[in-house]
Amino acid sequence: MKIPNRLRRLDFSSCPDQESIEKILLRARKNPVVYRAFEQHMLTCSHCQSVVKRLQAFYEILETEIAKPASPKVVRFAQSLKKRVKPE
Ligand SMILES: [Zn+2]
Repeated sequence: MKIPNRLRRLDFSSCPDQESIEKILLRARKNPVVYRAFEQHMLTCSHCQSVVKRLQAFYEILETEIAKPASPKVVRFAQSLKKRVKPE
């Protein structure tokens, strides 16, 4: 019997990968049922707890960096990189 995707995503008998954990956390408000199912798994899983802690640290650093004003030198550097990655 084929299990629908919606239900399979709620099965956290094994650890989801980091990308999936990030998506679950970012979509927690939109999809609280999946979030709560993952939360129950995470409470007893030290691996997923450490992934969540790393993601939290990353987003804290990102928020701090985004809030800082960029110096004109950094803006010029970013613009020079953008020119180099443009498709020809
Ligand atoms: Zn886990």
